[in-house]
Amino acid sequence: MQGLMQDWPMTLDRVLTHARATSPAREIVTRSVEGPVVRTTYDQMWTRARQVSRALLEGGVELGDRIATLAWNSARHMEVWYGAMGIGAVLHTVNPRLLPEQIAWIINHAGDRMLAFDITFLPIVEKIAPLLETVTFYVILTDDAHMPQTALKNVMSYETWIAGRSTDVTWGGFDENTAAGLCYTSGTTGNPKGVLYSHRSNMLHAFAASMGDAFGLRAKDVVLPVVPMFHANAWAITFMAPMAGCKLVMPGAKLDGQSIYELLETEKVTFTAAVPTVWLMLLQHMRDNNLKLSTLKRVVIGGSAVPEAILRAFEEDYGVEVIHAWGMTEMSPMGTLCTMGPTEEALPHEDRIKLKLKQGKTPYTVEMKIVDDAGKDMPRDGKAFGRLLVRGPSVAKAYYKNDGAKNPDGTVTDADGWFDTGDVATIDPLGFMTITDRAKDVIKSGGEWISSIDIENIAVGAPGVANAAVIGVYHPKWDERPLLIIQKKPGEEPTKDAVLKFLEGKIAKWWTPDDVAFVDAIPLGATGKINKMALRETFKDYTLPTAG
Ligand code: AMP
Repeated sequence: MQGLMQDWPMTLDRVLTHARATSPAREIVTRSVEGPVVRTTYDQMWTRARQVSRALLEGGVELGDRIATLAWNSARHMEVWYGAMGIGAVLHTVNPRLLPEQIAWIINHAGDRMLAFDITFLPIVEKIAPLLETVTFYVILTDDAHMPQTALKNVMSYETWIAGRSTDVTWGGFDENTAAGLCYTSGTTGNPKGVLYSHRSNMLHAFAASMGDAFGLRAKDVVLPVVPMFHANAWAITFMAPMAGCKLVMPGAKLDGQSIYELLETEKVTFTAAVPTVWLMLLQHMRDNNLKLSTLKRVVIGGSAVPEAILRAFEEDYGVEVIHAWGMTEMSPMGTLCTMGPTEEALPHEDRIKLKLKQGKTPYTVEMKIVDDAGKDMPRDGKAFGRLLVRGPSVAKAYYKNDGAKNPDGTVTDADGWFDTGDVATIDPLGFMTITDRAKDVIKSGGEWISSIDIENIAVGAPGVANAAVIGVYHPKWDERPLLIIQKKPGEEPTKDAVLKFLEGKIAKWWTPDDVAFVDAIPLGATGKINKMALRETFKDYTLPTAG
């Protein structure tokens, strides 16, 4: 027997239409790439997103066509996003931090028809334009007054492109499983792969991420997504904020400590989210200038593990609640969140800090388990570590064009629908998961596994250390042993002995790195994470002092 409730396809256009109906005057504030801080409202955004839809339709864009953006977080970027999704086009957010050749490869692979980009990226676009096989039209996200000189053909300013267009368009009206967004993985091994979100998967994900013990956004919140829209949909904030009616603050191109601090204070931000490197810059700026945070209540930190020093600084020095989150592009991206239930909330402070270093529990709609190399389930005892598998309605089952397929039907999941995250983790009896490594970064020493992440997290807390990375280096007896690589804080001189001494008692003795190397800068990848591949390349011929 079928239920008798309405068939209401969960298409994402409804999110912005809802914001317009319930919070029309709520602001979206952007630090524009042109310079000034500019303001718009959900009401205006709806109108302009409809004009984008009209411009796309009049340009011949059809259901399923891919529209690329190379853009920072801004109201204009969001208008293109809703304008494209509303008519069933697929919004492809391209990561501008990738190499130009990679960007060209991704745009060709996606078959994008059009590219909208910020002025900042004109040099990249001019460089790759001759390589682009499917893009026939360019929009620069600015007005005519700021239009740069360019040799590009078929190019227009965004404001001219939408100006005077009617808002008379039909949004939605297609199946909720229609593709809505395309985002490529960072491709640390091999070519990047396209994750193709659907309207339904993004909507369910936004509901789950909005829950009280997830991001818990409310209309009174002022939300600053530092995490870019090109990094897994700004972790769904650009869906959740209009759903809840939050004010949005978009940082544009300036993600340095001073610029972010300024926005946090002047716009009275209550909630923000980014990868740890962003918070390192902010905390450094606040310490150097003796600054306080007057409105910020919660900060989501994910993308890589939260270092203890950052966790303590926010919670102990600034009174800001840290929500440690783990996820991945393939999970839309939320996988787990370390928020405190009643039992955890009552724990002594030091125990809570320890707990918050874990990646946390799955929100409703995500399931996870750990398995050994043979695929056998492992216990949830907080000790055994194995490959982390996940499943749920917002987890990828295949990549775009069936890249990396494991099965004849193109899917990458196992027979029971489990997706292998490539992470290695423990799960404790209460359901808290801890990432111990990426499967490919784990250091295999004498048949036992050493977690590079655990050592890094402690090492960044050592005096004089700005950033730390651990990689496995060849060892004739043990196969691999850990090498600790350190970037010093400016003007400080931590020594090998002092750093190793700092680790003593905090990690198992046999995990102690065999050597410490100092570098000017630890290389970061396109999403701000440590680029271990580059480090492994740099140190591929390194001889450990213990190797003799
Ligand atoms: P991406 O798809 O680029 O966001 O990368 C996803 C990967 O980042 C995950 O599979 C993890 O390896 C890593 N990651 C994300 N969040 C965390 C976290 N909180 N702790 C440790 N690793 C993380």
